[in-house]
Amino acid sequence: MALSDASPEIADALRVLHRVFGYDSFRGEQQQIIEQVVGGGDALVLMPTGGGKSLCYQIPALVRAGTGVVISPLIALMQDQVDALTALGVRAGFLNSTQDPYERQAVEQAFVAGELDLLYLAPERLRTEGTQRLLDRGEVSLFAIDEAHCVAQWGHDFRPDYLALSMLHERWPKVPRIALTATATEATHAEIAARLGLEDARHFVASFDRPNIQYRIVPKNNPLKQLLDLIRSEHEGDAGVVYCLSRASVEKTAASLVEHGIDAVPYHAGMDARTRAANQARFLREDGVVVVATIAFGMGIDKPDVRFVAHLDLPKSVEGYYQETGRAGRDGEPATAWLAYGLQDVVQQRKLIEGSEGDETHRRSLAAHLDAMLALCETVECRRVRLLAYFGQQGEPCGNCDTCLTPAESWDATVAAQKLLSTVWRLAKERRQKFGAGQIIDILQGKKTAKVIQFDHDALSVFGVGADLGTSEWRGVVRQLLALRLLAVEGDYGTLVLTDDSGEVLGGRRTVTMRKETTPAAPSGKEPGSRSGKGKAARVPVDLPAAAVPVFEALRAWRAATAKEQGVPAYVVFHDATLREIATGLPTTVAELGTIGGVGEAKLAKYAEGVLDTLAQVGATPPATPAVPAQAAAQPPAHAGVAPEPHPEPPFEDEPPFDLDEMDPWDE
Ligand code: ADP
Ligand code: ZN
Repeated sequence: MALSDASPEIADALRVLHRVFGYDSFRGEQQQIIEQVVGGGDALVLMPTGGGKSLCYQIPALVRAGTGVVISPLIALMQDQVDALTALGVRAGFLNSTQDPYERQAVEQAFVAGELDLLYLAPERLRTEGTQRLLDRGEVSLFAIDEAHCVAQWGHDFRPDYLALSMLHERWPKVPRIALTATATEATHAEIAARLGLEDARHFVASFDRPNIQYRIVPKNNPLKQLLDLIRSEHEGDAGVVYCLSRASVEKTAASLVEHGIDAVPYHAGMDARTRAANQARFLREDGVVVVATIAFGMGIDKPDVRFVAHLDLPKSVEGYYQETGRAGRDGEPATAWLAYGLQDVVQQRKLIEGSEGDETHRRSLAAHLDAMLALCETVECRRVRLLAYFGQQGEPCGNCDTCLTPAESWDATVAAQKLLSTVWRLAKERRQKFGAGQIIDILQGKKTAKVIQFDHDALSVFGVGADLGTSEWRGVVRQLLALRLLAVEGDYGTLVLTDDSGEVLGGRRTVTMRKETTPAAPSGKEPGSRSGKGKAARVPVDLPAAAVPVFEALRAWRAATAKEQGVPAYVVFHDATLREIATGLPTTVAELGTIGGVGEAKLAKYAEGVLDTLAQVGATPPATPAVPAQAAAQPPAHAGVAPEPHPEPPFEDEPPFDLDEMDPWDE
């Protein structure tokens, strides 16, 4: 929209967007959300990870008088959040338990003196009378409640301290509130609104689709080897997150990755706090580190260039899965969400639910969450359509998930299911015995193993009736019957028993369709989610022209050195997207550099010299003005520090000279 047509609030907001953040226009509903909050209204924002939630409160905080107070459960990340804002020239601070009293006091004084644009607070701080009185002494422009799903009691990230946040409105009725989350089933949505008293707020629900993430769910057979194949063939040198269910498997997996030459670190709640924090810092700050973690890891991690999220165990709910996989590709570049899933996962999760604390309602809710997750795993339809449907949204087959890329076949498994269920039934009825999947499959396949002979199972009428299917196919049948609740597991040994619904299949009143087991092979390289090339070069963004690659690499090296020198993560200096735009646009002046997305005033002042020098050093641009068009990048880069050969004749005579005085139109 033209600045002249905009309301005064939006004109201010657009100026801040450009001057501070270096962006040209708002995305999606950002503008409407910002307008609502700048105008003093409340908002509830549901937007997927990477959708651009932060600007929705940061810009109003910069436009309105006073300090924006951000409530966030992510104490360990507050320092990074504040660093990122400081790099943009925003005056930000935080108050949490990691500070000593002096640091805290300095922040409090700055707040009272009106010297802060944004103040991050842990929710438990806000409950104390001291903090509440502090807020009364300064001017609060808005309250932003980040990760608002933490208020949902049946959710996967419940934080009791969030329940107390309903008092914000009672104590400061005039201060607008904005609650934000990337978790968005209708139930969670309603719970957030009710618990935070946001029924009258304007609700903004964005599309939850993350088109750049390729979803893949594969049968698990040798998970570690499968993971290594994934990393080696598609994500060598990339930053990634690997989720495991237990601390032990986190340790084991991280150690094996390291053994195989991958730069991996473990992360789980059982580690000592120092090592854990150090591992998280390495993942955030360095390029290409893989973190192997329990789900304790990741909330609020806003590293934009995570290229893959792998699950080696089945997540407990679709919400959790979507939240975890959503940490991939926040920068909008292609990323992979990969899950290996097998029979043992179903058995284990069902057992966990059976043994869980809490009442029957709680267990039923856990079971319903698991069922939805299993249905996603076993679907023969587009994974994305399924995921979006779970969040109450519609989608078209996406062309960027495993089922779209290699359509899954389904088969009529009714007869196989009957054979399997009747084996379980006969063992129970004729022998009063219960067995696990292994023995039952051996019976079906007619294998005379020691255990089969010991129990005289070769005398059963069903012995050998299933010789037509292989072991992995039978395991698939068991897994899918469990997923469909046509079979259940019992006790510590995972013995199989019939359910109330099994009879319908045995009696021929219900047919069973199943997803055909396939040998997992990485989809071929033509789909959007895969990256061209192998090895280290695979980290280069896909749509970079060949000539710009060395320039991009030089900029990355400059960024790594700069970030290290300043003690901040590389992405706090510039995102990959910004470096890419620089590598293709080849700005030759400070003013040109200022027009690149992600380059605001503060970063321009700090980094212009370094960027322009780097470009000149690789010979992408001449050492001084005037400007050279982009074709210059096609020339082989000169040796660092050596000026490129002068052109025999000035070839660009008729190019209009760049107006060096051209000012940034947004600048006052
Ligand atoms: P979320 O908190 O919703 O996960 P972020 O606020 O971290 O998302 O934003 C994701 C990415 O998108 C960031 O790199 C951010 O700088 C970028 N971004 C946000 N809004 C805009 C915009 N209007 N124009 C360009 N980039 C944007
Ligand atoms: Zn699809």
